[in-house]
Amino acid sequence: MTSIATLGSHCSLQVLKGAKDEDLKTILVCEKKRERLYRRFPFIDKLIIVDSFKEVIDQKCQSILEKNDAVLIPHGTLIAQMSSKEIESIKTPIFGNKWILRWESDRNMKEKLMREANLPVPKPVSNPKDIDKLVIVKRQGAAGGKGYFMAANEEDYNTKRNQLVSEGVISKDETLYIQEYAAGVLAYLQFFYSPLKEELEFFGVDQRHESDIEGLSRIPSEQQLKSDKVPSFNVIGNSPLVLRESLLDEVYNMGENFVDAAKKIVAPGMNGPFCIEGVYDENAKFTSFEFSARIVAGTNIYMDGSPYYSLLFDEPLSMGRRIAREVKTALESNQLDKITT
Ligand code: AMP
Repeated sequence: MTSIATLGSHCSLQVLKGAKDEDLKTILVCEKKRERLYRRFPFIDKLIIVDSFKEVIDQKCQSILEKNDAVLIPHGTLIAQMSSKEIESIKTPIFGNKWILRWESDRNMKEKLMREANLPVPKPVSNPKDIDKLVIVKRQGAAGGKGYFMAANEEDYNTKRNQLVSEGVISKDETLYIQEYAAGVLAYLQFFYSPLKEELEFFGVDQRHESDIEGLSRIPSEQQLKSDKVPSFNVIGNSPLVLRESLLDEVYNMGENFVDAAKKIVAPGMNGPFCIEGVYDENAKFTSFEFSARIVAGTNIYMDGSPYYSLLFDEPLSMGRRIAREVKTALESNQLDKITT
C-alpha cells in the first residue's frame, strides 16, 4: 500500500493528517528527541526513529521507505538540513520536482528563475561598496531568516557582519547575498499546481512573524537607537491574511508565470505546492524577494481549509490533504511518475 512519508518538523502534522484523511498510510522520519511529541498523534502509522534527518539518505531508511511504497513530501527542513546533491540522491519518489529545490537553495539560481517568471524582484547588490540604499543581507539556503541583517552603507554592513561572525551566528567566509530592502505589507502567496489537471490553484496567503525585527518595532525609537543588537528575521510563526479582491487577478498571473518559467527552465516544472513571497507597497505594487518550491509552513494556519480553497472545493482541504489527494488520483490513474521525481 502506498504511504506518505515526511520528516518530523515544519508541516509534517498537516501533511500526515491529510494523508490519513485520504486513506493513505503515514510514515514519519522522526528524530529521537521529538519522539514523545509525535507519538501524541494517532494518525501517524509508523515512526522511523533517527538520530539526525541526514539518515534519510542512508540505505537503512531508504529500504524501509521503499518497502512501504513511500512518496516523500519535501519541506523546508529537508532543504535546510541537506545539500541539493543529497536531496537529489534520494531514491524514494519525491512529491513535486526535486530538481527545482536546488533553484530554491541557491540565491543566484533563484534570482534567475524569478526573473524568467517576470516577478518584480528587488535589485541585488553584488558588492558591499555599492550599498547606497537600505539593503537586507541574507544567507544561502532556507535559513529561515536567522542571521539576516539590514545595512544602510558599506561601513554599516561591515560592522554588523563582523558582529554576527564574532557571535558565531554566521561563519567568517560565508558568502552573503545582498538585496535592496522592499518596504510594505508582507504577503506570502501559496499555490498548488496540478500536473494532472494542468491547473493552478491559489490556496491562501500568510504573514510571517519574525524575531527580533518584530520585537524592535514594539519599542520606542529612543530605545531602538540605544540598542546595539543586530535584529534577525528568525521565523516564529505565521498568521492568515486575505487580499483585496482586486489583487487576485495579478496573483493568479504571477503564479501562472512562475509555473510557465519553471517548465522551461527545470523539467518537469513547478508541480505541487509552492509559494511566492514578497511585499505590497503603498500603491499595491508587489515586490517578490523569494519563492519556495514546495509546501511552506505558512500553510499550517489553514489545516482546516483556507478561504480561497473554500471557493474551489466543497469541503475543508488543507494543503497536506490536497497533496495526498493528488497522490491518490495519480495512483488510481497510474500516473505517479507525473507527480513525483
Ligand atoms: P527570505 O529568507 O528571503 O524569505 O527572507 C526572510 C525574511 O526577510 C522575509 O520573510 C522578510 O521579512 C525579510 N525580507 C527578505 N528579503 C526582503 C527584502 N528584499 N525586503 C524586505 N524584507 C525582506
